Amino acid sequence: MENETIVAQATAPGESAIAVVRVSGPRALDLASRRFRGTRSPRDSGSHRILFGTFLASDDSPLDTVLISVFRAPHSYTGEDVVEISSHGGAVIPVAILASLVEAGARPARPGEFTERAYRNGKIDLAQAEAVAALVKSRSDRAARAAHSALGGALSRRVTELDRQLVELLAEVEARIDFPNDVEEALDCAVLADRCAEVAGPVREWVAALPASRRREQGVRVAFVGRPNVGKSSLLNALVGFERAIVSEVPGTTRDTVEESIWLDGVECRLCDAAGVRQPEERVERLGLDRTRDAVRRADLAILVLDRSDPREEEDRAALAMIGDRPVVVAWNKADLVEASGSAGNGGGVATRPAAAEIAVLPALEVPRTQLLGEVATVAVRSGGAEALREALRASLRRLSGSAPGEELPTTSLRQESLLSEILEELDRAERSLRADAPYDLVAVDLTEARRALGEIVGRGVDQDVVGAIFSQFCIGK
Ligand code: GDP
Repeated sequence: MENETIVAQATAPGESAIAVVRVSGPRALDLASRRFRGTRSPRDSGSHRILFGTFLASDDSPLDTVLISVFRAPHSYTGEDVVEISSHGGAVIPVAILASLVEAGARPARPGEFTERAYRNGKIDLAQAEAVAALVKSRSDRAARAAHSALGGALSRRVTELDRQLVELLAEVEARIDFPNDVEEALDCAVLADRCAEVAGPVREWVAALPASRRREQGVRVAFVGRPNVGKSSLLNALVGFERAIVSEVPGTTRDTVEESIWLDGVECRLCDAAGVRQPEERVERLGLDRTRDAVRRADLAILVLDRSDPREEEDRAALAMIGDRPVVVAWNKADLVEASGSAGNGGGVATRPAAAEIAVLPALEVPRTQLLGEVATVAVRSGGAEALREALRASLRRLSGSAPGEELPTTSLRQESLLSEILEELDRAERSLRADAPYDLVAVDLTEARRALGEIVGRGVDQDVVGAIFSQFCIGK
């Protein structure tokens, strides 16, 4: 298996100026040489050279003019001989190059197989391999920076440093198992317990910072919630800046879920508009409502849209109930209608400054202050009428995702996060045991377990199936 030569298109399929087909394995140079006519054959080329020539199809007819980059083992991405063929893009040429190489004896690569080989050949550890996937998937500048930091080894260095501390601690505990009478025990236990807490401190901070960091990287999901016809679709369109959702005066028009992203301070904000909340009249609307429930369940933040000109306590309360205890921004939409009729519910202040005014939630709705991140008046159908909402979202995002740009934590996968939590548990357990004067052997077991979990972050002792599962999530050609 490992000495098979694999091939895949490394660039995304479709129309493009250039496409790259990558070959890796012991026969990479040989197979490429058979299909290439140029000034020099890849077989005879030094490493890190680019060759110019013609690539041939399976029947030896010329396919395209190409550049071939040669990387000789171990100085390549995978650690094996690697050849990268840059051709014209599109649906035909790269596929034909791939077919020609398969015909010559290469095997189409599985998803993530190039990176898996890099990992198995010791070019990168598992944390870095996961960072490759995160980097490719990143959708914002900050996400890419965090992934790049992990790929550069920032996460692995944290692991190494923590492991050094654990080894020291473990050595001290083990010394006491071997020479039990050398020290004054009660006093000594307290000192060691303090050391445990000291080591655990930064790990605890790290774990605590991960949810916000993940939001910065992966974006925040925002669901519009409100009864039909209050202007949810109009507000989404106003924020996005074009007609994404269908706006209609017929209540209950939005049944499918509409998703669109905006970026605020470099954080992706995935806006999701679904069916309005009301007693469904027929089956399709009921299905729509199920989707709304689902969208709200997955949301980090809800925008509760209320009709400023027509608040209806019971129905608005049903919408609020669906939001549960999620953070919420309240948008009092259709403020213009209040303005026009001059019948503002709580005075004319809103009428003159509808977009920016701070107004009180209907007291009966009772959104808890801790849950309420902002409250604004909007006119979705007026140019600039949703700017107050955009600003409220921006401020909310700052609270939800932390606001320290430039000092990103290295991307940490969910797998790594759960290992970090495990390490914390073991350290806390060790500390408790020490404070309770439990035998040193027990403490040593906890610390050893913490080290095992730590090693797994970078791939030490990780089950082959787990490794396989991680790489299977990659795209082909990576
Ligand atoms: P949804 O069902 O909550 O998504 O509501 P829509 O966005 O489809 O809007 C329902 C109707 O209200 C449409 O006819 C909109 O043009 C209108 N509408 C939305 N926002 C405003 C607003 O701020 N002022 C006024 N006057 N009409 C609005």
